[in-house]
Parts: sequence; C-alpha cells; structure tokens
Amino acid sequence: MRINYDFHLHSDFSGDCSTPASQMIGQAVRLGLEGLCFTEHEDPDAPPSDCDFSVDFAAYFSRMEELRGQYRGQLRILIGMEFGLMPHLPETLRALLAQRPFDFVIASQHFVGGKDPYYPSYFEGRSERACYEEYFRVMYENLLLFDPSSFDTLGHMDYIVRYGPGRGRDYTYAAYADYIDPILRYLIEHGKCLEVNTCGFRYGPGEPNPCTDVLRRYRELGGELITVGSDAHAPEYLCYGFERAAELLTGLGFRYYTVFERREASVMSFR
Ligand SMILES: [Zn+2]
Ligand SMILES: [Zn+2]
Repeated sequence: MRINYDFHLHSDFSGDCSTPASQMIGQAVRLGLEGLCFTEHEDPDAPPSDCDFSVDFAAYFSRMEELRGQYRGQLRILIGMEFGLMPHLPETLRALLAQRPFDFVIASQHFVGGKDPYYPSYFEGRSERACYEEYFRVMYENLLLFDPSSFDTLGHMDYIVRYGPGRGRDYTYAAYADYIDPILRYLIEHGKCLEVNTCGFRYGPGEPNPCTDVLRRYRELGGELITVGSDAHAPEYLCYGFERAAELLTGLGFRYYTVFERREASVMSFR
C-alpha cells in the first residue's frame, strides 16, 4: 500500500524552514516518489515573530521551474502554497492566484485573533476547551468568507491540539462534533479536499491531523476527497507515516487520494 505523492512540504522559501528545495527533491527521488508539491507558507499579516511568513514568489517560481526542468521525466514537481486564513484576506489570496500559475493551494488556519496557538501564551488564562472551540469556530467563519475556488484543501484541521497544554490527550472528535461537522459539511458541499497531515503521527497521541475519528466522520457524511501531506520541513520527514496513513485511510473506506496540477484535481489509488 503506497502513497506516491507528498502534497504538503516546505523548503527555505518558507520563513520557518532552512532546507533547500533541492534536498527535499533528492529525498523524494530516493524514496521513489512520483511527485511532490511544495506548499510554502504565505501568511500575510502574521503576528510578529522570528519568522517572516511571506514568500518571494518571483524567486520561488523561477527556482521551481528550474528544478522542474532538471528532473523532467524523473519526478513531478508541483508548485503550491499554504495560505493562512484570516477574515480580511480573501481578496489578497484572489490577487495572488491571478498573478501566478499555482498548482495547488492549502488553506490553513494558523492564527486566531492575531495570536499563534503554536505558543503557550495562546492558551494562557483560558480553558483548553475554550481555545479549541474558538479555533474551530473561527476556521468555519473564515471558510465562509473565502471563495471556495481559491483553495483546494483544508490543511491540518485539528493540529491545534498538538500545542494545547494537554497535547491532545483529552481531545476527541465527539467532544467537538458541533464545531467540526459544519466544517466537514462545507468541504463536501463545495467539492473541497480535507488534508490528512501525517505530521500529527509525531506528536501527542500519534494521530494524523485531523484525527481518525474526524476522518471517519468525514467519510460517513459522504466526504471522499482527501490530500495527503507530511508537512515536512526537513528531508527525513518527507512522507513521514505514509504507509500507516494508507492503511488507516483504506480501512476507513477511502478509495483514493487527490493530487493537483494547475489547480486541476486527479485521483490516485493507494497501491
Ligand atoms: Zn500549517
Ligand atoms: Zn505546512
């Protein structure tokens, strides 16, 4: 059982990553992948931090096209971005998409009300539950504000639980169903993918993001479209946990995963 594409990874075009794209590609070739899609962080108006979450798109596209030429016939190299959802940014995303021929867009909820759940301060003075509820509520509200044609998949839906004080120990789908179901329904109704982010296997309870029960619920509601990504920032994490993910997903009744080129979807079977 194999997944031959990694559709969420970063290189040094992302502010929080220092790995040259060529190293990610080298690893993809070693792993025998058919293709990979770089999804660099574009988070306009991110709260101030040590990282600059904005991509130099001119340099990014020119480097990717160079690498594409170098690996033609050997590896498909796709050019994507991971765009951070915020209520005032739908027009910014639309403008970016009009400028360049992106292959793929992940919409990710990173920041909430100007704060980053990655840092413990996000959780200070509030219950973990209140923080998670807020996170899912804001994610849903943001999805309603964005044009569904401006993104392809929803990134690492419940990844906030990696960073909560309990590290996801007490988190279950059932406890947050009222917040999660509307998001899943929205994706299904609009033909959008749900990302299965295998980075979660490295944290806390060792579940993908979203967790197994959310993936089961998505399937139960009629959801079929998924993308799979490792969110690797270093070569050794490329395709992390993909075999486990393939077992899990086929066991849940998913028959294929989705890849994109120039924002056009095609489906790949697990094999
Ligand atoms: Zn992300
Ligand atoms: Zn990422």
